[in-house]
Amino acid sequence: MSKYSLIPTEKVGKHFLYHNHRLYNKLKERDIYGITICRCRKYYSKSKCRVLLRSNDAGEVVSIKSIHKDHEDVKNAEVTMLVARNSAKENIRASKGPVQKVFEKTINKAIAESQQGLKDASKFAPKYKNISKTLYKIKNKDQVSKDKLPNQIEDINFEGDLNEYTMTNCKNRFLLYDDKQEERIICFASNIQLEILSKCKRWHVDGTFRASPSLFYQVYLIHGWLNNEMHSCAYIFLRHKNKNSYSRMIDQLKRNAIVHGFVFQPEVIVGYYLI
Ligand SMILES: [Zn+2]
Repeated sequence: MSKYSLIPTEKVGKHFLYHNHRLYNKLKERDIYGITICRCRKYYSKSKCRVLLRSNDAGEVVSIKSIHKDHEDVKNAEVTMLVARNSAKENIRASKGPVQKVFEKTINKAIAESQQGLKDASKFAPKYKNISKTLYKIKNKDQVSKDKLPNQIEDINFEGDLNEYTMTNCKNRFLLYDDKQEERIICFASNIQLEILSKCKRWHVDGTFRASPSLFYQVYLIHGWLNNEMHSCAYIFLRHKNKNSYSRMIDQLKRNAIVHGFVFQPEVIVGYYLI
């Protein structure tokens, strides 16, 4: 008995059965004898091809009933691209990179590796604009879903659900401190960012209300000016807008940087006038 393979369709969890240059859709679920009946994909096209194929669990074709109507064989490039489309989804699930980049990399790799020539492969390659919505859905599913986001400040727990946000994409520390005080202050800065800040004589501190998450009053961005370039170095979430919070924010930043081996000695702090 000849073997078949399963090729992922565009729909999640659905497969074509691929056998001898033809694609089949599942017609009837597997019966108690382990036989699944599939019908030629071209049944729904003009040719209304009625070929039925019975397959077993061992990956074998048990029988084929009737003869295919006059329709084209499936191009290898189409099968390659169906597989590549599915790989793109898996790669997006597994990687933290930007969706479009991961997608393009996967498809380009499949085209480059395909034996069918560029023309055919490109013809069947999925278009980003057609698939981007699905890809973002996959990506977002793996992020903290909205109902999981903390409703109150006490629910923010970096030792629990939100632990992954304490690390950078390269698995280095990102959370610098979370003081857990009543007027809670949370600061994110990696060691590279602290190093840049430690070398900067001039800091730019910029508070934004608009971008701050609802549980916080303000997000502070601290930029360092180094080698004629502005570097974004620390992200600090504040609950209150008062002098005490500002002072604590800077004080904590300095103290926690020392823990990681960095000493801050800015000569000018631009935009920071309340100290
Ligand atoms: Zn057919």
